[in-house]
Amino acid sequence: MAAKKKSQIKSATLFGRVALIGIGLIGSSLARVVRREGLARHVAIATRRQKTLAAAKRLKLGDSYTTDPARAAKDAELVMICTPMSAYAEVARAIAPALKAGAIVSDVGSVKTPVARDIGALLPQGVHLVPGHPIAGTEHSGPEAGFAELFRGRWCILTPDARTDRSAVAKVTELWRRAGSRIATMDAAHHDRVLAITSHLPHLIAYTIVDTAAQLEKDLQGEVIKFSASGFRDFTRIAASDPVMWRDIFLANREAVLDILQRFSEDLTALQRAIRRGDGAMLQGTFTRTRAIRKGVIDAKQA
Ligand code: NAP
Repeated sequence: MAAKKKSQIKSATLFGRVALIGIGLIGSSLARVVRREGLARHVAIATRRQKTLAAAKRLKLGDSYTTDPARAAKDAELVMICTPMSAYAEVARAIAPALKAGAIVSDVGSVKTPVARDIGALLPQGVHLVPGHPIAGTEHSGPEAGFAELFRGRWCILTPDARTDRSAVAKVTELWRRAGSRIATMDAAHHDRVLAITSHLPHLIAYTIVDTAAQLEKDLQGEVIKFSASGFRDFTRIAASDPVMWRDIFLANREAVLDILQRFSEDLTALQRAIRRGDGAMLQGTFTRTRAIRKGVIDAKQA
């Protein structure tokens, strides 16, 4: 069940202090949105490595900088976790004692069912968890890769559970609305099934195709790169996506990915059989259906 939700919140400044834990592509894009829109009086940035922290400082993404997530989270009204998902439990354990009552904790992770376990279960009473996932990104990583327009016109899916404080959900909704996103709310498991087909499977296919090419004999490999514009090029862009992030996604969404992969393998076998048998009608029928899907994506302004 997916439903759009419009917020009633009007004021420019939504939060006193916002803590961004992780300041890579997504965290730094959000920092730029918060600054552009004047959504917080103070932006506290925490990241793991000094080098990344120095880059965030140089880019003037926040008001204070630390490698200690608890220090950033102290007194924050919103803590947005923007790290790879494998760091969630470690981050939640670190920030939990520092969170004030009524604080909102949110995230941007690409898989939503593990969030209740890896973050929610570790938070103190009186803190509101509003998981989120902006369906926006590039194949680049790090604070320099971010830009404020990343989320414009893209969907952001929120997966609060039925008991989540409504005003906390409204505030996170408003944050993403001000980022230029369209907002949908749905069940975490439903989100993970949908994303398994729209995002995770295509990435897995791209990684496989590019790796198959990478393992070809040397002379053939040169031709693949030289003539890549005929299709291969588009797969290389997807297969250049961050290896740590994608490792985490496949481990976190194992069941849904395996389910959709099973269906995909069956469909691929059917196409293989059609090619072997010279069944042109079957091939043409499939390719005609897929063309209509492309038109739907363009019409929905998601191309
Ligand atoms: P990224 O550019 O690689 O940035 C990750 C950030 O997390 C870095 O600042 C990194 O810090 C920090 N970090 C890593 N481990 C940490 C830890 N243990 N404690 C504190 N900070 C830590 O990644 P991203 O693309 O922004 O992705 C971040 C999240 O957004 C992921 O959960 C991903 O699923 C989600 N997401 C990504 C996309 C996309 O297309 N990229 C789209 C939607 C959602 P250091 O550099 O200091 O190590």
